[in-house]
Amino acid sequence: MSDTHKAAPMVDEVSDFEILEMAVRELAIEKGLFSAEDHRRWIEYVHTLGPLPAARLAAKAWLDPDFKKLAVADGVKASLAVGIDWINGPPTKFGTPSDYCSFRVLEDTPKVKHVVVCTLCSCYPRTILGQSPEWYRTPNYRRRLVRWPRQVLAEFGLQLAADVEIRVVDSNQKTRYMVLPLRPIGTEGWSEQQLTEIVTRDCLIGVAMPQPGVTSNAKRPVHPAVHPIHTGH
Ligand code: FE
Repeated sequence: MSDTHKAAPMVDEVSDFEILEMAVRELAIEKGLFSAEDHRRWIEYVHTLGPLPAARLAAKAWLDPDFKKLAVADGVKASLAVGIDWINGPPTKFGTPSDYCSFRVLEDTPKVKHVVVCTLCSCYPRTILGQSPEWYRTPNYRRRLVRWPRQVLAEFGLQLAADVEIRVVDSNQKTRYMVLPLRPIGTEGWSEQQLTEIVTRDCLIGVAMPQPGVTSNAKRPVHPAVHPIHTGH
């Protein structure tokens, strides 16, 4: 490698939060609250999580009106049908209970569109949706969605008619949400598997709507923010 083209460091400096996490983890292991092996199994489990169970839940609700009623009335119970047990916890049989909460399924209608945010931090139904996308945790999304929901959805490429009411729902420590979006036209006769594939993570947060042929979050135009929040970073 030449001297004129130096390689960038592979990792950034460790943040204060990472140091705090390591310190608390090592103290907890020393104190016997859990073992290093328990921690490894937990982290491996967390990395297996993704939005597929929530997408299946939505597809099942589209296909079965009784299941939809159950999902809207009791999201925790309905989650069992897609292999997610909020009460008895993950297959490791241990782990943080911070994700155990009231899990609510918000049903969109032709006149009401739900969209989820955590204005305080980044609360997210990780058990059924996996890790949150980076933008979900940004101050721009969190602060702007509650002020200018129609504008922010338009920036995501979701243009809603003026007579559609937008309900912004704020997650918190104990209550987490997923959106049950409208089943799009052009999906008549589709199987549960076909329907599941078009319910992307962004549809479940509420910033996108399912469309036949769109199975990825990346295929939509993203428009620049009109009133970006400047955080000073
Ligand atoms: Fe939060």
